[in-house]
Amino acid sequence: SPRDEPPYLSGLNAPQRDAVLTTEGPVLMLAGAGTGKTRALTSRLAHIIYTQRAWPSEILAVTFTNKAAREMRERMHGVIGDVSEGLGWLGTFHAVAAKMLRRHAELVGLKSNFSILDTDDQIRLLKQIITAADLDEKRWPARQFAGLIDKWKNRGWTPETLPKDETWAFADGKAGTLYAAYQARLVELNATDFGDLLLHMLTIFAKHRDVLEQYQTRFRYILVDEYQDTNVSQYLWLRLLAQKHKNICCVGDDDQSIYSWRGAEVANILRFEQDFPGAKVIRLEQNYRSTGHILGAAGGLIAQNADRLGKTLWTEADSGEKVRVLGVWDGPEEARRVGEEIESLQRRGVSADHIAILVRAQYQMAAFEERFMRVGIPFRIIGGPRFFARLEIRDMIAYFRVTSQPADDLAFERIVNTPKRGLGDKSLQRLHQFAAATGAPLSVAALDIAGTNEIPAAARRALAQLSENFRRWREQLLTLPHPELARVILEESGYLAMWQADRSTEAQGRVENLFELTRIMGDFDSMESFLDHVSLVNDNEEARDEPKVTIMTLHAAKGLEFDHVFLVGWEEGVFPSQRSLDEGGLKSLEEERRLAYVGITRAKQEATILHAANRQIYGQWTSSIPSRFVSELPREHIEAETSLSGGASLWRAALDERDPFADVSRATQRGHGPGWQRAQTYGRPTRAATQIEAKPVSVTVGAAPRRDLSVGMRVFHQKFGGGTIKGIEGNKLEVAFDHAGEKRVLDSFVEVQG
Ligand code: ATP
Ligand code: MG
Repeated sequence: SPRDEPPYLSGLNAPQRDAVLTTEGPVLMLAGAGTGKTRALTSRLAHIIYTQRAWPSEILAVTFTNKAAREMRERMHGVIGDVSEGLGWLGTFHAVAAKMLRRHAELVGLKSNFSILDTDDQIRLLKQIITAADLDEKRWPARQFAGLIDKWKNRGWTPETLPKDETWAFADGKAGTLYAAYQARLVELNATDFGDLLLHMLTIFAKHRDVLEQYQTRFRYILVDEYQDTNVSQYLWLRLLAQKHKNICCVGDDDQSIYSWRGAEVANILRFEQDFPGAKVIRLEQNYRSTGHILGAAGGLIAQNADRLGKTLWTEADSGEKVRVLGVWDGPEEARRVGEEIESLQRRGVSADHIAILVRAQYQMAAFEERFMRVGIPFRIIGGPRFFARLEIRDMIAYFRVTSQPADDLAFERIVNTPKRGLGDKSLQRLHQFAAATGAPLSVAALDIAGTNEIPAAARRALAQLSENFRRWREQLLTLPHPELARVILEESGYLAMWQADRSTEAQGRVENLFELTRIMGDFDSMESFLDHVSLVNDNEEARDEPKVTIMTLHAAKGLEFDHVFLVGWEEGVFPSQRSLDEGGLKSLEEERRLAYVGITRAKQEATILHAANRQIYGQWTSSIPSRFVSELPREHIEAETSLSGGASLWRAALDERDPFADVSRATQRGHGPGWQRAQTYGRPTRAATQIEAKPVSVTVGAAPRRDLSVGMRVFHQKFGGGTIKGIEGNKLEVAFDHAGEKRVLDSFVEVQG
């Protein structure tokens, strides 16, 4: 009876229960946003442990973010108590694969304490490899090659299995050789990049059946969230692991597939039933997250995509507030407006924790950070220029890395002369040669070269001192608690003193961050587990627990939910991104639309979309037109408002799907031709005096032609700048623009000049 039912089952609907109770055999849960997929998956995990079908250590559970893993772990603790601590294989693909690889590192020539390189390290290494091959790094940029390697690894290709034609993708046919050199160098450094974590495991599984069988036997149950975004190597890895027990449950939503640019393949969903014959497919249709208007808006938008499986969603919730679409003058006003909206929500008693701002690209974040700091709105940045990516944090972590792993040359290089130790380029070059000749890591060679007269005395003393420091810290690794050791290193390295002596404005913040770093370390049981975390974490653990507004990218928001969501920068070229427009294909545009769908469906109670008429991008002011996604939202689910008279019509036109710029919107692709560039960019636009005081007005559809305009008059147009009226026809004007040439525009887009 329901009364004796375990707590994790109560409240689930019939298909959710089905997904929980069908523990044996392959299960695919395919359903739209907010239908309780993750909740059902979590309950399934609880059920398996609660009914003792497996020990926690026999379950592999893959989540998309560290945050999701943490939440799932917490929920498990609530349901099954301390037993949940045994969930050693619950985490992201990266975290779980790293743990696995540490156990078998020697099978691919690594030691179990290998370092995981971040993108910066990876690029530095690739630069060295490209230059060593006598290639011009300007012509063959390391960054481009890094992208290529990432793609190959996501497809499961090693240097040995790389298809022949791929080798022409870079450096005139030398790509394969470079790839092999890079992999060899990583092994020498006792390091991996992100892609290696799974790729090495695939190699090990292929060559050592016993290792594979060990895991196939161990993992009695496998659970995977956000399955639509798995790439080929993740898919191959899962498929191998599931072969024995075949108790694999994957959940996903094809409409939320947003990582194809990183090698994710929606096709993995479709392949599931083929790979696991007899798989049970469960569909969920009731949305528990959002109001009717939010769902209606999101549903109408995603319906514009041709390439989708299609599904029904309904909700019992009220229709709620309509999705608001706000047109503002420019980027700074957007940030100001969002700040005001948040303050007004806070006055209504809404906690900042329940508010999120979702951006399309990282660079959009800064405006909000800056604004919120100024007005005192607490916020956290997730997936952005995050704590662990800051210069001072990365420097300090390099010290920790060399301490825990002497062979970590990249880390050593980073700090060998930071703070300045009077080591010249020549001395460092000699050190490199010395290390290469003796085959020793740099941190060891440093001590050796200090005993020779290869380099000047001052440099010898500096290196001897640094080596001695590392030797001592390494010893203390065994005797001191690691947060304490961290503080010792901070002081004795002279690194902290360097910033304390710095008079620049950001130095104080850096010092605070360094202390924060030693504080955070205390949350980990060892220096190594901390370093692992740093390599793997993709969100930012914050210090104080006051409620904070979350600022994050749309990509990072997948799977999450907030009461109030602000979707900013909905303009052509920002969202959909310029890149997706340049590529021009339907595919990339559809992926952008899925991203918009993900964005709107994060909202539980209110979604607010903003677009600005002017935006500064890479230092240049550019006028912009509302995103096509704005016009694709079903009108009955939205409410438009704008602080611009011109904006009102722009928007209205967009709504009516009679975009007056339809003919030029293709040309708005920034960077397309110098002529267009000239027409697009100008000094920061100033508003006409009448607009400065303009209060937000609701859109009135079907405005009459204006009577204040006549032929010969000077006007200012939001998009095209200044010009002279040549002719008037109803509400349409013929204008000779100073820079953009002759155009027909709607009268409501122009302001009288002077
Ligand atoms: P997404 O596709 O965005 O990842 P999802 O399908 O994983 O969404 P969940 O995050 O699991 O959806 O659930 C969405 C919201 O609905 C959560 O707040 C969850 O607690 C709630 N929910 C899920 N199932 C039920 C249910 N049966 N009864 C009440 N609320 C539910
Ligand atoms: Mg989910």
